[in-house]
Amino acid sequence: MSSNSKTLFIVEDNPADTLHYLRLLDEVKHDFKTIETSTTLADACERMSQQPPLCCLLDYNLPDGSALSFLELLKTKFENGLCPIIVITGQEDTETAVKLMQHGAQDYLVKQKLDAEQLLRVIQHSIQTWQLQRQLNHLALYDPLTSLVNRTLFIDRLIQMFEAGKRNLRPFALLYIDIDYFKAVNDNYGHEAGDCMLKSMAEQLLANMRSTDTAARLGGDEFSVLLPDISEAKAHHFSHKLVQALTLDLPWKDGFISIAPSIGLACYPSRADSYQEFMREADFALYRAKNNGRGQYSAFNKAMETETRQLTQLSSALPKVLLNQRLQIAYQPIIDVSTLAVDSIEALVRWKFKQNWISPEKIIELVLERRLSESFHQWLFENTIQQLSDWQRSAPDLSLALNLPANICHDAKLLNQLLSVLKDTSIDPQKITVEVTETHMMQYPDETKLRLKTLADFGVQISIDDFGTGYSSMQYLASLPCDTLKIDRQFFMDLNTNERNAQIIEAITALSHRLGLKVIAEGIETAELLQAATEFGCDYAQGYWLGAPVITQQEFSAFCVESKRQGDRLIAKV
Ligand code: GH3
Ligand code: MG
Repeated sequence: MSSNSKTLFIVEDNPADTLHYLRLLDEVKHDFKTIETSTTLADACERMSQQPPLCCLLDYNLPDGSALSFLELLKTKFENGLCPIIVITGQEDTETAVKLMQHGAQDYLVKQKLDAEQLLRVIQHSIQTWQLQRQLNHLALYDPLTSLVNRTLFIDRLIQMFEAGKRNLRPFALLYIDIDYFKAVNDNYGHEAGDCMLKSMAEQLLANMRSTDTAARLGGDEFSVLLPDISEAKAHHFSHKLVQALTLDLPWKDGFISIAPSIGLACYPSRADSYQEFMREADFALYRAKNNGRGQYSAFNKAMETETRQLTQLSSALPKVLLNQRLQIAYQPIIDVSTLAVDSIEALVRWKFKQNWISPEKIIELVLERRLSESFHQWLFENTIQQLSDWQRSAPDLSLALNLPANICHDAKLLNQLLSVLKDTSIDPQKITVEVTETHMMQYPDETKLRLKTLADFGVQISIDDFGTGYSSMQYLASLPCDTLKIDRQFFMDLNTNERNAQIIEAITALSHRLGLKVIAEGIETAELLQAATEFGCDYAQGYWLGAPVITQQEFSAFCVESKRQGDRLIAKV
């Protein structure tokens, strides 16, 4: 609650003392427009709550309680206090003064020693300090752009609600909201437009909430809402309504910018043991909403439970596994379509956890989450480059493809790590290809270009992975120091069911060749798909039909022999 009034409130039961303060104030030039008085704490509390004054002078002893009890009461009623309170005591007593300040008084004055100048000085100083403290509190707990609660205060409220929920089995809901393709708003209209959209989003959020709900900006384009005392059915209804309310065409300059959210919902009671686990539920549901096509909400459910539990277990097991080098690296061959010989091998990290293989994408996600990128990548670069060097003894032209994670553009250290491992070996940098996914690349196009250029200058080859899923333009591609493009596996896997896929593959291949890029077909799982990739003019192919990831030298040699045989068979057939 904030005060715009220019009122001084005097709480004093002795009329002579009140008169004395008024006379003193008459002697000096003050800014108060009105001075109100009260003789009891109950009356003062009620009137001050309705319209908080700019400052309050409070007698130490009143008929219905002491100044300390009044300060206590205000603290419980108003989270951030009501106004600066100066207590006027009958006698000087340091111990009492300290106690008063500890309970939230701004200052204290001794009745007998009071003069006009001192009274005004203390009042002015108290108001200034109070306002400054409010500003500092606001900065620490609120987001400066939207004025919504920030992550710190939000987590604090979530912890309280989670604990209360556990104790009293009170239902509540947590929503994670992330704007879809927000990066594109910044890129296409500028940061100022992005900021404006974030503010409008916050306003819409507040317009759709009850006064007891909390809306927060957690960072970037991520918002969150905490809904106390709400049933699961109502939380679903609210999430659905919120997707609609936040799908907006917002005016910008002469036109409109369209934005839409994805929302993840987690409802309590839940099986989550901690508030962190509960947050993970909402986050996981959001991830699902994004994957299901965005512009929608997804609620955490039992089927996702096993997956998040496993994630929590994986996350805590990872540091030890990495330390003990219990992660494996498998190598999947990439075949030259014209000769059917192995051209290169893509390194894929593998981890068997409780009989399940964890996907390389998930491993990287956990590595980044646990901030283990440096040790993980050192291990990865050293081992893969050593392996390449071993295999090059029998296959001197063999190349190695390495996947780099999304944070490549923020992590200069990562690139330097790779370059320094390369400098320590005799491997030709041209035999190393770095793969970056198109989606990750398009999140930070300018920064990515800069980092990739550093690698290209050193001689490393650049490949764009999962092409066709990340909305990059051919114009942007032409400006990149890129050598190959991997057409996303989905295009080949759905080739028979989606007619447009053939046209897309053809167009991508033709344009890439015109830009001087080689094309790799991913997801080649049948002989027919290999035939199709050949006909589309793809240069290389990769997929289970051509070769599953291999681990050992023996497997690799056996694979090369088998691939040669298959190649001979195929060539004979064609
Ligand atoms: P997705 O659909 O997967 O959510 O993709 P997205 O483009 O929305 O990207 P993402 O949510 O991963 O990233 C949010 C972007 O928000 C990244 C950053 O450029 C931008 N951003 C972060 N903070 C601010 C800010 O304070 N102001 C503006 N204008 N942009 C910000
Ligand atoms: Mg987003």
